[in-house]
Amino acid sequence: MSFEENKTFEELAQAPWTIPHESKLLCEIKVNGETFKQSAIVLGSTSPSAPCFGLFAGVHGLEKIGTHCALAFLSSLKEQLKWDKNLQERFKTFRLISIPIINPTGIANLTRSNHNGVDLMRNSPVEAEEKPHWLAGGQKYSSKLPWFRGHEVEKEVSSVVEFVREYAYNSKVFLSLDLHSGFGLKDRVWCPYAKSRKTFPYYPEFKELEQKFSESFPYHIYQFEKQSDSYLTHGDLWDYLLDNFPSGQVYLPLTLEMGSWLWIKKNPWQIFNRAGIFNPMMPHRYARIMRRHQPFFDFLLRYIQSKAS
Ligand SMILES: [Zn+2]
Repeated sequence: MSFEENKTFEELAQAPWTIPHESKLLCEIKVNGETFKQSAIVLGSTSPSAPCFGLFAGVHGLEKIGTHCALAFLSSLKEQLKWDKNLQERFKTFRLISIPIINPTGIANLTRSNHNGVDLMRNSPVEAEEKPHWLAGGQKYSSKLPWFRGHEVEKEVSSVVEFVREYAYNSKVFLSLDLHSGFGLKDRVWCPYAKSRKTFPYYPEFKELEQKFSESFPYHIYQFEKQSDSYLTHGDLWDYLLDNFPSGQVYLPLTLEMGSWLWIKKNPWQIFNRAGIFNPMMPHRYARIMRRHQPFFDFLLRYIQSKAS
C-alpha cells in the first residue's frame, strides 16, 4: 500500500486511451505551501443523455483500500481497451466517470477528515430527518472531534457536486458507487438514504439491480441493504446529489462498505496501526481485496450499458 495514489491516478488519467477520454482537474487545495489536487477522468460516450457509471473513492483519507481498488479497476480497463475491440465499441453507448481521490489531503495525511478537520461525508447541506447517532451522525461542536460537519460546504464537496451535475445529471440512468471500508464483518452494498429510514425514489430499480446480480452470481459475497439499516447521518453527499437529481431520470447512488473488521479479526495486531483499522495489511489479504470487487465493478459497467437504447 505504499505508492503515491495521486501520481498514479494522474499518470493513468493523462495517458493515451483508445476511446474518447477527458482528464479534469476539479480543484486545488493549498496547505502550508503544498498543493493537493482533486482530479477526475471521463471515458466513453459524450452524449449528455447516455447512461453513466460513476466510480468514487477516497472520501475518507484513511480508507485507502477503496482508492486502490478504483485505481486497479481503471488501470485494468485501460489495458483491456488496448486490444478488446468489443469493449471499445461498448463505450460508445455509455460513460464512465471517476474520482478515486475525493479527499486528497486526507489521503496524503492518512486522516479520515480533510485538512480542515471536516468529514466530507457529513459536510453536504442535508439534515437528517430522524435523530442520528449524537456524534457519528455528524457534529458541529469541533474539528478536533471526529465526524465534524464543518460550518460551510468544503471545496472538495462542491467540486464533486459540480462535476456530477455536468457529466451525470443529464444521463437517463446514473449509477454511482462510492468505496469505503471500516464497518462490520461483511461487504455491504448500501442504497440511500443516510438521512432517514424512508425508502428512496428509485428503490425498485435498486432491487432490480440486486436481483439481476444475485441471479447471475448466486454465490456472491455482498449484503444489499439500505444504509439506514446500519446508521443515520447528517450531510451525506449522495443524499444531497440524489435529492437534487432531475426527475424523470433514474439515479442509483450505491456505497460499497468493505467489512474491514474481518481483516482485524484475522490479524489483530494491525489494530495498533492507524491505517490497519481500515485497510488490509497482510500482502496476501491486500491482493485478495484488490481482486475481490473487480467482478462487481465489471457487472455494474455492463448493467449501465444495458440501459443504453
Ligand atoms: Zn468511509
